[in-house]
Amino acid sequence: MVDNNCIFCKIANGEIPSKTIYEDEEFRVILDLAPATKGHALILPKAHAKNLYELPEETAGKAMKLAKKMVITMTEKLGCDGFNLLQNNNEVAGQTVFHFHMHLIPRYENDNQHLEMKPTEVTQDELEAVRKQITE
Ligand code: AMP
Ligand code: ZN
Repeated sequence: MVDNNCIFCKIANGEIPSKTIYEDEEFRVILDLAPATKGHALILPKAHAKNLYELPEETAGKAMKLAKKMVITMTEKLGCDGFNLLQNNNEVAGQTVFHFHMHLIPRYENDNQHLEMKPTEVTQDELEAVRKQITE
């Protein structure tokens, strides 16, 4: 349930103080220490799971429901113009803390952040090959 070497376990369970903006039995939502924008927050389940691969399906569903609730409240309170949800799994994808978390990133006109992906070119045949690889 809890990993004694995991900083987010300690934060989620209140052993290490954090700027908490929401808490219930299963989750804590905290402000990120190095925010991409004003209000950048992290949804942390209290039970340890390394990332989405390990997260129980039920917790994944609840995390997304909570994200929706937080986005609505935070948009109202912060007056932001949009939101990015971001969730990294494994080092190659940019995960640096190995306790599942979902980033809630409020976006503001002219906030000077660039979370955009770099598009690549692909043929219809290549797309079809990938589609087959995933579905067959
Ligand atoms: P990721 O790269 O998806 O693993 O994101 C880890 C995030 O956790 C980064 O945005 C960090 O700024 C944030 N972070 C790391 N340690 C803390 C902490 N003690 N309190 C709040 N946020 C943290
Ligand atoms: Zn943990």
